Amino acid sequence: MTAFKTLDDIGNVRGKVVLVRVDLNLPMQDGAVTDDTRVRAAKPTILELADAGAKVLLLAHFGRPKGERVSTQSLSMVVGAAEQVLGREVMFVSEIAGPVVAQVVGILPEGGIALLENTRFWKGEEKNDPDLAKAIAANADIYVNDAFSAAHRAHATTEGLAHLLPSFAGRSMQAELEALGKALDHPEHPVAAVVGGAKVSSKLDVLRHLVGKVDHLIIGGGMANTFLAARGVAVGKSLCEHDLASTAEDILTAADAAGCTVHLPYDVVVAKEFAANPPSLRTCNVHEVAADEMILDIGAAATEALADVLKVCRTLVWNGPLGAFETPPFDTATVALARTAAALTKEGSLVSVAGGGDTVAALSHAGVAQDFTYVSTAGGAFLEWMEGRELPGVAALRH
Ligand code: ADP
Ligand code: MG
Repeated sequence: MTAFKTLDDIGNVRGKVVLVRVDLNLPMQDGAVTDDTRVRAAKPTILELADAGAKVLLLAHFGRPKGERVSTQSLSMVVGAAEQVLGREVMFVSEIAGPVVAQVVGILPEGGIALLENTRFWKGEEKNDPDLAKAIAANADIYVNDAFSAAHRAHATTEGLAHLLPSFAGRSMQAELEALGKALDHPEHPVAAVVGGAKVSSKLDVLRHLVGKVDHLIIGGGMANTFLAARGVAVGKSLCEHDLASTAEDILTAADAAGCTVHLPYDVVVAKEFAANPPSLRTCNVHEVAADEMILDIGAAATEALADVLKVCRTLVWNGPLGAFETPPFDTATVALARTAAALTKEGSLVSVAGGGDTVAALSHAGVAQDFTYVSTAGGAFLEWMEGRELPGVAALRH
């Protein structure tokens, strides 16, 4: 099913030097790692290779040092967290290529793990410089990419290396590609997409791509206001991109032509001030929003209608909250629909895939992130995938 090779195809790696591109761009505060989710995501691949006797060299970037050594962005700071999660010793190496790495390869035992320095300390990384990629590849036998979240960048360690060494997708990359493939490339129909969030302008390409792919396009959040306004609805003080009215119309026309049903809310939750539980809070029909009110969530009737849509669908992809979910009670619709999707997934009638920074936070807030089929934490790479783009790091694995 997959057009790329995985660790199942890698053969005997005993004594082989395997470069593994991982995502170790961990959130830190005062020099301490605050969330080790990304190390846990890479753990199965790293241990599978180490346990098979490979010499594992981890490659990762950290922050944006822009091609210079910046001591506060050294990957040496995450060695402790990596050792803790992996339960193994991890040797830190202050280079990514050259004789120092060659020496490390010489002393590293079979099954040993070394973490190389922040790849972005070298200018050639972000330029995808073939000479840098060649120098890195010179110390290794095999390349494994386990960092889907960095796959939208064509950098030396995310793309270049794949052209120089036998290349394989790691377990985490494989899981992500399989889940995303099930959701949009070869999904079971009917397919619903929820697209919400703050602005239409940030997700125009997502909307354009989805209308040709899905049966139901559910638009919520601030984006819905722009579509409503384009249809002549007065949205008061709502967050709205009035200058995108004709773009919104084009998307609606394209959806119509493609047989995609677009769902806009017909009731909304409004308030005169944006605050928690404001006194002016009320729910009304979209045609009754006053000039001094703003739409901050979709209403209960609309939410129920959307739940009915999900009940007849087999596949769901979700990016963007339906309301200003950080401020109660404007999380109501997002939480309700997320719980419906989670329940349908548990029952086995729905494959549900979600992604996006705020979306992941909203699903966690609803307490259902673990009940979705797959939740992508990949941010930029997830959105580019939703735009239908081929990610360079993934494309390079395919040949
Ligand atoms: P993601 O990070 O999942 O891609 P976005 O960044 O596009 O999502 O959008 C999330 C933001 O959209 C949240 O901060 C949320 O408060 C905001 N938002 C959603 N609906 C509204 C609304 N009706 N008015 C103002 N902001 C909204
Ligand atoms: Mg966001």
